[in-house]
Amino acid sequence: MISFSVKTNQRAEFVDITGQVQQAVQELGIADGVVTVFVPHTTAGVTINENADPSVVRDILAALNKLVPRDAGYTHTEGNADAHIKASMMGFSVQVIVDDGRLALGTWQGIYFCEFDGPRSRKVWVEANQQ
Ligand code: ZN
Repeated sequence: MISFSVKTNQRAEFVDITGQVQQAVQELGIADGVVTVFVPHTTAGVTINENADPSVVRDILAALNKLVPRDAGYTHTEGNADAHIKASMMGFSVQVIVDDGRLALGTWQGIYFCEFDGPRSRKVWVEANQQ
């Protein structure tokens, strides 16, 4: 397994980690197969979406904030209940096909680390799926 760090700078932000995942694929030495990208946190997640126009991830964040406001009478008293909910909505892992040592992503796709309770130093784990 490869682990790398992601430093986030805001309470909520999407960080493009495609390059770091590609680097992990090279370090794992995978030519063809599937990798799992896993986020070992409860208030951050991971998703795949457009990395060509940055307004797309801004809109996703804005939509999540509308659906799950920061304060809405939650019972979790840490003050980050919205972050837990948003992280679960995005999910904690994605799988990507590796073809000829390269992540097989669509033309407009990037892999995003989704921070909902930053700024913090976070971890991402990448492992090759068994054949
Ligand atoms: Zn909490």
